[in-house]
Amino acid sequence: MAEVERLLGGRTRDIRLNGDLAQLFRERSWPQTAKIIRAWMVWVIVLDGLTLGLNAILLPTGTVMSMLWPASILPPAALFAAIVFRRPHALWLQGICILSAVFLILLSVALVGVNTGGEFYERHLTIMLFVAVTAIIIFPIPLRWAMVIGASALGIYLVFQLRNPDIDMGSALAGTLFFASGVVATIVARRTATILAHKTFLLELRDRSRLAALADANSQLELLARTDPLTGVANRRSMMETLHGFWNEDLTRTRGAAMLMCDVDDFKRLNDNLGHAEGDRCLVKVAGIIQSSMRDERDQVARYGGEEFLVFLPGADEQQARVVAERIRSRVEAASLPNPTSRVLPYVTVSTGVAALMQGSEFMSAEQLQRQADAALYLAKKTGRNCVAVHTREAGQVSD
Ligand code: GH3
Ligand code: MG
Ligand code: MG
Repeated sequence: MAEVERLLGGRTRDIRLNGDLAQLFRERSWPQTAKIIRAWMVWVIVLDGLTLGLNAILLPTGTVMSMLWPASILPPAALFAAIVFRRPHALWLQGICILSAVFLILLSVALVGVNTGGEFYERHLTIMLFVAVTAIIIFPIPLRWAMVIGASALGIYLVFQLRNPDIDMGSALAGTLFFASGVVATIVARRTATILAHKTFLLELRDRSRLAALADANSQLELLARTDPLTGVANRRSMMETLHGFWNEDLTRTRGAAMLMCDVDDFKRLNDNLGHAEGDRCLVKVAGIIQSSMRDERDQVARYGGEEFLVFLPGADEQQARVVAERIRSRVEAASLPNPTSRVLPYVTVSTGVAALMQGSEFMSAEQLQRQADAALYLAKKTGRNCVAVHTREAGQVSD
């Protein structure tokens, strides 16, 4: 990208693609280039056939016969190039193929006139130059190749004009010089077109890279917007989205779901005693323990409030939810994180409220289920903390 920026920062006329960029450009433009070359080859074959056919109708048989063998060089040469350009090959091989094919095509056109003589001599040499010029303009090929095509055409023109019995050497040279200026102008136009194609390619690369960077930044932002910055688990907003998704798809009916509301016991005392920073470290560890207590990646933990964590267990029944809640409770207790003045133990403990929505049971919104988990948590706190309470329909709640 640094090279792309450097090239785009300079003057357009100084743009030169090197190394990887040149290779990438060739790969990207290959289908288009090959298509143009194949189409041109077919075009000259058709034109060769048509001209010969027309001449066969309009000209005497002797003249047509003298055109026949030189004209028959063209189709196989053009066909060969069209076949070679059906698949990518090494650049040098492509160069050799196209340049030799074009040379034979130009020679064929020139020889049709030379062999027939008379008015056809110079006319076909001019047609040959026209054919070369169309190739230079149309083929998106490297400048060197375009120059070889131009030189071949002018060389053929000069050699045959010097042998033209109807003109002297001076006018042969003058004619060659005249056409040379036209060919040079065409090559310059080819160069400009190539530079512009390179610039378009570079702009496209830059756009793509900027777009990719933007998409990357967006996904980072998206992740940040869903993550609790302190603990690294999902935040409340992310949990709400998960719940809405699940409820919107009406999966509660077919699979059921459970929620756990976990709250650190006497956390205020921990803060007051050990300081807010220690409180933060404790929250990070508790979040990690809760996260590690999930059944698998289906379950989601979110930091819901200060020291409260909401756990969503899609497809879980009451028993499974109770097992997860108990796992969290016992692991937090076993971690022995200090909370010296807690009324439960001198360690950090959590209380959890559990609410489950059985599959096929009456519809209940995510908010209702959450309220039930909250109510169960309230009971767990009342029962003495460091315990799991499950919400039941009949009795309100039952503690564990
Ligand atoms: P209970 O057992 O009834 O839940 O008592 P508690 O002390 O844990 O609950 P209470 O709601 O009285 O206090 C919660 C404390 O959590 C108060 C608040 O200062 C603290 N807190 C909230 N968010 C953060 C935080 O991000 N970092 C720290 N260190 N403390 C926080
Ligand atoms: Mg608390
Ligand atoms: Mg609380």
